[in-house]
Amino acid sequence: MRYSAYSIFKEALSGNRMWKPAWREPQPKPHYDVIIVGGGGHGLATAYYLAKEFGITNVAVLEKGYLGSGNVGRNTTIIRSNYLLEGNNPFYEFSLKLWEGLERDFNYNAMVSQRGMLNLFHSDGQRDAYARKGNGMRIHGVDAELLDREQVRRKAPYLNFDHARFPIMGALYQKRAGTVRHDAVAWGYGRGADTRGVDLIQHCEVTGIRRENGLVVGVETTRGFIGCNKLALAAAGNTTTVGRMADLELPIETHVLQAFVSEGLKPVVDHVITYGAGHFYISQSDKGGLVFGAEIDFYSSYAQRGNLQTVEHTMEEGVSLIPGLSRAKVLRSWGGVMDMSMDGSPIIDRTPIDNLYLNCGWCYGGFKATPASGFCFAHLIAKNETHHVSRFMRLDRFERGYTIDEAGRGPQPNLH
Ligand SMILES: Cc1cc2nc3c(=O)[nH]c(=O)nc-3n(C[C@H](O)[C@H](O)[C@H](O)COP(=O)(O)OP(=O)(O)OC[C@H]3O[C@@H](n4cnc5c(N)ncnc54)[C@H](O)[C@@H]3O)c2cc1C
Repeated sequence: MRYSAYSIFKEALSGNRMWKPAWREPQPKPHYDVIIVGGGGHGLATAYYLAKEFGITNVAVLEKGYLGSGNVGRNTTIIRSNYLLEGNNPFYEFSLKLWEGLERDFNYNAMVSQRGMLNLFHSDGQRDAYARKGNGMRIHGVDAELLDREQVRRKAPYLNFDHARFPIMGALYQKRAGTVRHDAVAWGYGRGADTRGVDLIQHCEVTGIRRENGLVVGVETTRGFIGCNKLALAAAGNTTTVGRMADLELPIETHVLQAFVSEGLKPVVDHVITYGAGHFYISQSDKGGLVFGAEIDFYSSYAQRGNLQTVEHTMEEGVSLIPGLSRAKVLRSWGGVMDMSMDGSPIIDRTPIDNLYLNCGWCYGGFKATPASGFCFAHLIAKNETHHVSRFMRLDRFERGYTIDEAGRGPQPNLH
């Protein structure tokens, strides 16, 4: 069924009783060409592009919970391509371009909203760093503007410009950045993959990886053994545990990141704003809730919830940037498990096991990468060749000394 204004009209005439489920609930087949572990944004996008771009449809996505129950449905929905380094910039710009045509492409309303993003700076040194990043972006053809304090004030007058310690001096502005409704991304990619014949198998946890003569032959799951020719891991915060099933020790640590939403307010925050004096970021959802977050909790954990110390720290940062925030009530908070890589950049690569493919290390920036990640991972799986925009995202870069250290903070997950 194609969604359109006509279909809404037609279904309304029959009392909206004829809508079909967005995807099937198939039983697992004994064998697939490709199995993808993880029904998050990246796994579903990979399945979608495998089917749509490369004609590979004998594919299963195995998800231990329900589709979108992981980070894809837990993030703060920010998309952008404001990266400095060659290893990142073309990749994230490719992703932003895919976001721009996504809803038409997969025929689903994902509420892509390019409302612009302001990265605030608070010192001369930080301004120079942002000017450099902006120049790097423009060299790659990505939009970037350096705004002074008054230009920022016109866009966001509610910010604390005269903060005694961190006065706002200006911002790096990316107009095409914004937000996307996160769970609709999972649903849209899932529906698009299902329509093309991919089996989306929910409540099916992978508990083991079976190998013969060095190659993967299938996976043990809570619903029995399922064979495959190729196995692709897109398990985000669970990458290390799934990798260990194939004896892979990966340069990944799992950490918790929390997010918060306030009660619904009238429109006030028109953009995505990031605080340069901390790691606080905020936007306003279409329902009116202020959606915000800050740093990861400072310890490794696989729990999808965080600690109160980080709650307090996030609120302090928020109120320091927007004093009026102290008047809003927080409605909900939640956590997700992040696959933190040692240089803060992701991995899309083959592994030492020939038919085992790896997609991980997204830290807390993987949502915006979902389209490009899915496209490049599908390209790798289908052709056994790396897509050129993800060519730096290699697993062996840590051994070779070619890290992609965007934040310049070294191999310290808690600093990324
Ligand atoms: C609070 C928070 C805020 C964030 N904010 C942003 C943001 O604003 N912008 C941005 O770009 N990124 C953001 N991120 C990061 C982003 O959400 C992640 O990097 C991205 O979603 C990870 O990819 P995914 O969608 O495939 O992960 P997930 O949705 O986590 O998918 C992985 C799936 O694998 C499944 N799985 C794991 N193990 C197994 C197994 N053994 N068998 C079967 N299934 C398994 C899990 O259940 C899960 O559904 C944020 C993350 C969090 C938690």
